[in-house]
Amino acid sequence: MKITEECIACGTCVESCPVGAIVESGEIYTITEECTDCRACVDACPVDAIVD
Ligand code: SF4
Ligand code: SF4
Repeated sequence: MKITEECIACGTCVESCPVGAIVESGEIYTITEECTDCRACVDACPVDAIVD
């Protein structure tokens, strides 16, 4: 999974991730190697910035 430039840094996805794989990275957020591809964050993002 990855977060695109569409990210508005709202932080909503951070709480949705069961393994804590989403972290702040500069002006947007990023997904780390801890990601298990569960897709919980995809539905949580209000601007559809999280993609496969
Ligand atoms: S797909 Fe699941 S594990 Fe990966 S960042 Fe999103 S919520 Fe976290
Ligand atoms: S929920 Fe979407 S817009 Fe908000 S920080 Fe996460 S990826 Fe960015």
